[in-house]
Amino acid sequence: MPDEPRPEPAASEVGSAGRPLRVAIVGAGPSGFYTAAALLAAGAGGAGPAVSIDLFDRLPAPYGLVRYGVAPDHPKIKAVDRVFEKLCLDPRVRFLGNVELGRDLARDDLLAHFDQIVYAVGGQSDRRLGIPGEDLAGSHSSTGFVAWYSGHPDFLDLEVDLSCAAAAVVGIGNVAMDVARILARPAGDLATTDIADHALEALRTSRVRDVYVLARRGPVQAKCSPPELKELGEIADTGVVVDAADLALDPVSAAECEQDRQAKKNLELLAAYANADGAAAGRRIHLRFLAAPVEILGAEGKVTGLVVERTRLEDAGGGRLNAVGTGETETLPVGLVVRAIGYRSLPLSSLPFDERNGVIPNEKGRILDPATGAPLPREYVVGWVKRGPTGLIGSNKPDGVETAAAMLEDLPALTPVPAEAAAPQAVDALLAARGARPVPFCDWQRLDALEVERGRPDGRPRVKFVRVADMLAALDG
Ligand code: NAP
Repeated sequence: MPDEPRPEPAASEVGSAGRPLRVAIVGAGPSGFYTAAALLAAGAGGAGPAVSIDLFDRLPAPYGLVRYGVAPDHPKIKAVDRVFEKLCLDPRVRFLGNVELGRDLARDDLLAHFDQIVYAVGGQSDRRLGIPGEDLAGSHSSTGFVAWYSGHPDFLDLEVDLSCAAAAVVGIGNVAMDVARILARPAGDLATTDIADHALEALRTSRVRDVYVLARRGPVQAKCSPPELKELGEIADTGVVVDAADLALDPVSAAECEQDRQAKKNLELLAAYANADGAAAGRRIHLRFLAAPVEILGAEGKVTGLVVERTRLEDAGGGRLNAVGTGETETLPVGLVVRAIGYRSLPLSSLPFDERNGVIPNEKGRILDPATGAPLPREYVVGWVKRGPTGLIGSNKPDGVETAAAMLEDLPALTPVPAEAAAPQAVDALLAARGARPVPFCDWQRLDALEVERGRPDGRPRVKFVRVADMLAALDG
């Protein structure tokens, strides 16, 4: 049955062309964009409400993890920014960069000016290993390390010392693959990417020759995807070293592998690495399984080694195998440790926060009041701060669709804000009164063009601005 045509809303009704549903999305990364796209798609063709979206980001540049998280040597994944750019050119969307919740706007301001608010702030922090030595100089979270080489303004002063011969990357997810690859790759290979200039310079003089990737569980439990694992073997003059003994599976892992195509493919790739002579190459990536870090050693405040304990797998029930220490240890002589064990979201404003899982408690995107379990009216969540730090960029699409669907379902019970407060000019006036300098999309387009121009002489896609002050000076100076 075709959908019944929606009756034309009265001119002053929320969702009408004259009084569109006003939505604030906080965070212009993939999850924010996919939510905006889902809301716009619902409104297209008159099937859903007319919407008007303000998309805020605390940085002048949009795209979140696409710009500041996807590895510089993965330009195809970054190309999704073209899709997001199109959304920003839609007259129903305003990008407002350089506007930070808590600095320029309060949660109450959003509640006063928007009918619905979506928090799409991602995971800005990292999980901790909880072992001695974690805070020594030379021990970095992958959140920091990735943001550093991606030119994120918050991390450009991170002191990354690559004068050591060996580095360790803890964890075997896709972020660990990115970090190991960037550390092992000849800098010349990265010189035609959009990697931050300060990182390129540091990598050019890097003395790192051995990168140890440490998986606390076995090869079947490795979280990395086969294409990323395969890419390690394609780096010039770099061998991947795997001990064949690490690939012998216990019965539970063997059964798990049978059911899991990704694990099967990973195991095939690992077996090929174990059969090759990776150790003979000029640089080496060692993939170690059943190896858990227990202490980061240091001298004069700097990392000098990593104590690693051999583990065995123990059935924890529910189909999960846990790593349990065996007491057998070895010390890796590394001068750099990158802990790639997962991102973590931070509590946001006065919103509820589930500390244990590092998410804003929610049901299908509706933020829940922990005291009552009931949804908070008009406030929603999407992306990593909704579901935890898992999934590829594209995983945010269904996630955004789910949150947008909840928002649309809730419209009949919505108490909208007064029309005057909902006017975009009211938000502009408030930001002006707060002394904020919002960066609209046309300004970002100017910055984008300047970055592309700066990259042209060296055949790079762009040379990023890495300081907010420089971005604003380029616009206003
Ligand atoms: P992840 O996939 O969850 O991997 C985290 C790794 O850290 C796992 O190997 C985990 O081992 C390990 N770990 C956790 N706690 C540990 C501890 N205390 N000690 C030792 N190891 C520990 O997280 P991620 O790599 O940060 O990636 C986040 C998401 O972004 C993933 O969905 C990923 O696929 C995605 N991503 C994709 C790409 C790409 O497509 N190219 C690139 C980057 C990121 P256990 O399994 O034992 O917990």
